[in-house]
Amino acid sequence: MSRKRIIAIEKLFLVFFFLFAVGCLFFFSLKDKNKPIQKPDFSYVENWTVTDDRGEVFETGRNYKGNRQIEKEYVIESFLPENVGDNMVLFFRPCWYNRVYINGELRSETNLDKDSIIPGGPAKSIYITIPLTREDKGATIQMVRKNATSSHPEIVPETVVTTMDGVYTYLFKIEGFSFYFATLLFLISLMVMVVGLYIHYLYRTTIDMFYGAFSVMLVSGWAITNSSIYPFIFGHYHVDGLVNYLLCLLMPLAFLIYVDSIQKGRNRKKMAFLMIAATINAVFWTLLHFCGIFNFVDALLYIDITLALVLIGASFVIFTELKNHHTREYRYTAIGIGLFLFFCIVEIIVITFFTVKNDSIPMMIGLTLLLVFAVMQQVDDIRKEGVEKQKAIDMSEAKSNFLASMSHEIRTPINSILGMNEMILRESKDEVITDYARTVESSGKMLLTLINDVLDFSRIEAGKMEMNLEEFYMSEVLSDVYSVVFERAMEKNLSFDIRIPNEVPNGMISDGYRIRQVLINYINNAIKYTDRGGVTLVLSGTYMEDKKFLLSMYVRDTGRGIRESEKEGLFDAFSRADLAANRSIEGTGLGLAIVKSIADALGGEVGVDSRYGAGSEFYIRIPVEVFDKTPLENNSYKKKIIKKEEGFGCDYIAPNATILVVDDNVSNLKIADLFLKRIEAQVDLCDSGARAIAKCKE
Ligand code: ADP
Repeated sequence: MSRKRIIAIEKLFLVFFFLFAVGCLFFFSLKDKNKPIQKPDFSYVENWTVTDDRGEVFETGRNYKGNRQIEKEYVIESFLPENVGDNMVLFFRPCWYNRVYINGELRSETNLDKDSIIPGGPAKSIYITIPLTREDKGATIQMVRKNATSSHPEIVPETVVTTMDGVYTYLFKIEGFSFYFATLLFLISLMVMVVGLYIHYLYRTTIDMFYGAFSVMLVSGWAITNSSIYPFIFGHYHVDGLVNYLLCLLMPLAFLIYVDSIQKGRNRKKMAFLMIAATINAVFWTLLHFCGIFNFVDALLYIDITLALVLIGASFVIFTELKNHHTREYRYTAIGIGLFLFFCIVEIIVITFFTVKNDSIPMMIGLTLLLVFAVMQQVDDIRKEGVEKQKAIDMSEAKSNFLASMSHEIRTPINSILGMNEMILRESKDEVITDYARTVESSGKMLLTLINDVLDFSRIEAGKMEMNLEEFYMSEVLSDVYSVVFERAMEKNLSFDIRIPNEVPNGMISDGYRIRQVLINYINNAIKYTDRGGVTLVLSGTYMEDKKFLLSMYVRDTGRGIRESEKEGLFDAFSRADLAANRSIEGTGLGLAIVKSIADALGGEVGVDSRYGAGSEFYIRIPVEVFDKTPLENNSYKKKIIKKEEGFGCDYIAPNATILVVDDNVSNLKIADLFLKRIEAQVDLCDSGARAIAKCKE
């Protein structure tokens, strides 16, 4: 059986098995009701008699909320149920100050201000448990309470008698789902933040999703610490209350930073204003709380009002964005925020008008949607960025190609100009014309060097710079270099010298043409940036293996040098150091970039040592193979130098020579024809390879 078929069968099996498991769950859970899990003993203390602060006495049921503040002490009384046994507890929400008597015996005293270890008070309503024994069956219970402040104070709290298991079941029924939901969201947002950070380091850009996830994490953290379940898991009463308020104060700030980040700097003033308001709100209430001046609980109304104002402000800013069609840039986030705000409103309605269990579910749903849309936005942003990047790469490639073909095309006419100019130099006897032609020659050559640099650079950019590794003699490279640069050095009254202090083999295998180019580049720069003194080329190196030699070449000058701060990036394209001082010196900033690319392609390295004002030493080290170990002679390079003729006269003729010139460029053919006619040769011109072969056969 093919592997593909096996995997298809596996998938089918997986689907069926899963459906079978789900089926079992429903079938048996509906059927298996005979022996349900034993629920813990659980009963409410009911039928309370309340004696309020004015001495009025009235009866209530399980739970009673008053409609006015009660500042003084008041008493509530009832009887414990008959099912009280050992290991059971009395479980309820105390007032700020609360004493519990069972059969007249004081069993518990709570003074939240004094009991709290946190400065400023505990700042949250809590549950307490009082252990009971079987002797407490049907006992009288009396609670003395004080400070039920709020417009609807809880005069009689819902009070239950149960085991600790019963306490957990009770709490999880009221808040369990919200608590799990918030915890899950907290963990997911934490993971999204970690992913956001990772993407940030990968792409080096701002990842808005990170702030979105941070906001969601704060709100879900707030929901977790707001839950009455939290102290029962972590085993303390007050810390969560404090953290809950602090998170509450931080939430708007994180949300504002997120909104600011998605707007990419628009509305910065308004956002800054809102952020300052949120910060002042956070710092102000925290200070008051910790100094014991104004408790967080008492400040809650004002904190909520400030939060609401900040949120309304942020919504207003987003609304302006919507009006100006800017939300198109962050469509998903805008939808996420819209849905979140909608669910917040639902939450407010639920809390205000209904008494439901797990009442923070609407907000949790809103948060989940916000997180999902924030992630979707980020994925979309990254996708768009990728598309833009590809576009930019394509464009830059197209530009490089254009540059390459342009510089290639420009070389042909320049060569024609230089060729024709040389004809003028050779033929003209007029001093003035010759002088003009010399200027054309030097400018033309400079232009040609420039174009060659651009062509090389565009080849490097396009990754088309190929090295030709073949045998060559270093002495020949040195002669070439010497003949090219010597005259330039002379023109500036600079000395030029080549030194070979240790043994360097003459016959090498590498790209001789490119090594020559590097040396000419370095030496031309040295001459360009030196006004006094001279330039020295030093060759040395060491054998790494029998036929492998690490060739080191240094170009030293006594020129203006380079500042330490400007050395970095000197070998990057278009970088030019000391622009103020070198303004009068022509250059493109491409030379050293080309040198570096050549060194890289040959497996070598480049660098510079320099002291500003004293001179520089540029070096290149490249590994080469050796085919002839004969050492280079110190003055070998001078042998081949042919002194430039004084004039451009021709000192020989070749009337018997028959020469076939092939070039697809008409101007080049014409120049060759003119040059060769001067030596009286028989010239045959041809503009294509095929025709050239035919002519040869003739
Ligand atoms: P440029 O066409 O400007 O000479 P290069 O890439 O060859 O471009 O050189 C980059 C920069 O490095 C130059 O602009 C110059 O500031 C500095 N530089 C290169 N060689 C020397 C040198 N021998 N002395 C001082 N500065 C130099």
